[in-house]
Amino acid sequence: MRPEVLNPLFAGADSLKGVGPKLEKPLDKLGLTRVRDFAFHLPDRFIDRRVIANLDEATVGENVIVELTPTQYRQSRSGRGPFNVLASDVLGNVVSLTYFGRASYSAKKSLPLGEKRWVAGRLDQYGDMLQIVHPDHVSENGGAAMGTVCEPVYALSDGLTQNRVQALVQQALEDVPDLPEWIDPGQLDRKEWPAWRDALVLAHKGPHKAARDRLAYDELFASALALMLVKADNRRRKGVPLRGDGHLRDRLRLPFDLTAAQKRSVREIEDDLAQNHPMLRLLQGDVGSGKTAVALHAMLIAVESGAQAAMLAPTEILARQHYDTLVEMARGTGIEIAVLTGRDKGRARESILMGLLDGSIDVVVGTHAIFQDSVAYRNLALVVIDEQHRFGVNQRLLLQQKARGTAHCLSMTATPIPRTLTLAQYGEMDVSKLDELPPGRQPIDTRVIANERMGDVVAGLRRHVGEGKQAYWVCPMVREHETEDIAAAEERFDTMRAALGENAVTLVHGQLPADVKDANMARFASGEVAVLVATTVIEVGVNVPNASLMVIEQAERFGLAQLHQLRGRVGRGAEKSVCLLLRGDALSETGRERLALMRETQDGFRLAEEDLRLRGGGEILGTRQSGEQAFVLASPEQITELLEVAHADARLLMDRDGGLTGPRGEAARIALYLFERDYGVQLLRGG
Ligand code: ADP
Ligand code: MG
Repeated sequence: MRPEVLNPLFAGADSLKGVGPKLEKPLDKLGLTRVRDFAFHLPDRFIDRRVIANLDEATVGENVIVELTPTQYRQSRSGRGPFNVLASDVLGNVVSLTYFGRASYSAKKSLPLGEKRWVAGRLDQYGDMLQIVHPDHVSENGGAAMGTVCEPVYALSDGLTQNRVQALVQQALEDVPDLPEWIDPGQLDRKEWPAWRDALVLAHKGPHKAARDRLAYDELFASALALMLVKADNRRRKGVPLRGDGHLRDRLRLPFDLTAAQKRSVREIEDDLAQNHPMLRLLQGDVGSGKTAVALHAMLIAVESGAQAAMLAPTEILARQHYDTLVEMARGTGIEIAVLTGRDKGRARESILMGLLDGSIDVVVGTHAIFQDSVAYRNLALVVIDEQHRFGVNQRLLLQQKARGTAHCLSMTATPIPRTLTLAQYGEMDVSKLDELPPGRQPIDTRVIANERMGDVVAGLRRHVGEGKQAYWVCPMVREHETEDIAAAEERFDTMRAALGENAVTLVHGQLPADVKDANMARFASGEVAVLVATTVIEVGVNVPNASLMVIEQAERFGLAQLHQLRGRVGRGAEKSVCLLLRGDALSETGRERLALMRETQDGFRLAEEDLRLRGGGEILGTRQSGEQAFVLASPEQITELLEVAHADARLLMDRDGGLTGPRGEAARIALYLFERDYGVQLLRGG
């Protein structure tokens, strides 16, 4: 049960004054559904404004507050351009207050001609005209009342304004209770961190580093504690030791030798499985590093010991692909493999359920369907989860418990986690790493190309397709608005069809119904269609070896990790593969660095480290968006340091049986609930 002291924080957003059904959607979009979320919705940055007497006192680019008199409204005849209000200061300097979209009505209302108004905003220059685009505030009274002191700027969504969000956050902060301190007092003193409630208030007021650090630390601490509880719980559980005698593995005839990294991982897994508590291991390996072969070895060990193994895939297509691969690889062993997804119905399904129950099926591959209540196993002892990052710890715990006793668990991920963060994200697991690709892989030829050369790129694509080869085309992310992303993808789909022919192109994006998406994907996977146009939803892990060209539009908008994942879709066949990164002309320094790195290396772990460095780590730690201001946990080094402190402290707090002790124990429980690591609390001993 959640501690009562937290109740005000977990009240719904509608308990705040002014939140009705109309705001529900825009707030939802920002993840603001409870009072707590508002309190944690930290500003992206702060604006420091200066009150000036006239425009001569300001420099372009500065945020100012100035008294102006509107003199004229201007709208282009078509009615399509921006709406401009010309206004002059006391010296007669003219500035244009510019509004885009349908804002003329409200602009006229707040800026009546001939009447003095205080205007706050950023002074820009457009041609030889001074301009303030969408003033932040317009009011009859000036000065500090308008936010001269540091004003927070929050992330918004359609239908929300800065003022609205500011007001709601303020309201939420008033409901925030004092909580008992869960941080070690010594640590608090050393870092000069404020108490939790004070830290929250300060973090909304200005760029207060100590406050931000503390809040980030809190989250790390709660995670560390929860993961440690999971680990302790796992250690207490009894698992069935699996000691395969090797008779199936001996019959395995793979067309290649395992790499040293694969052999090492298999050995580590073998050791774990022989223990009498459940394995909890993460197999981390870049795209194409050969995780499937390792998983097969693990599953064979289970079957050699007379048990069953199940492999969980995130999607239907992936499940079927894994099934095909495993059947092919395991051909000589004589084991029985089945595939089960939500789509299997009637007799076929019945017969698989029967086989799982009577043990005639040794290995089953599938989606969540393999863990439904109606599915019973004779002797399930190993669960393999592909693409771990799609499942939370919580879900995984539930899965493991579906087995009789507690199943051994092998998670696999292709997302390279920077070393710094492994502890935070996978702290409860032991890690095996495939840090070596199978021999003979051809590097992917990666090129950065200016957007204007789109015509050449399409011509190249036509030649590529003409040779019977396939290609991916990834559409730009228009950030913020998913609908615009999809519009862009559909437009690109149309132009591609016009260029290459109706039947040469297919489309996947997030808003297609699942069966349509699957069908389109399948047509591409089978080679029926040459080009797949997609938003970033291209299935993780989908394997189409004949696809040897990847085009990514507006590549500068993607993070390094994401680009790496996307690029990993090609380079899977014998054919030399090419990845074209199209870039716009407004390239930031970071954007430039990212693309250069992509050209330079194909090492996923290195890219993940660099990505973290470039992004400054803020995103990972719940401070979601990085604005202009440098975020607190600015360096991987600092993250590492705090993570280590958090883990050490969590360890101190926990007693040998996995209970929380000492005066800080109760406070730590509250922290677990506050950060919704409740499964951690549920695993508490004697609590
Ligand atoms: P991933 O780690 O991305 O799941 P896969 O298991 O799909 O990688 O393996 C990618 C490809 O590499 C497959 O075609 C597989 O047969 C092949 N492969 C795996 N291990 C080796 C190896 N040791 N030597 C050569 N090829 C290998
Ligand atoms: Mg895979």
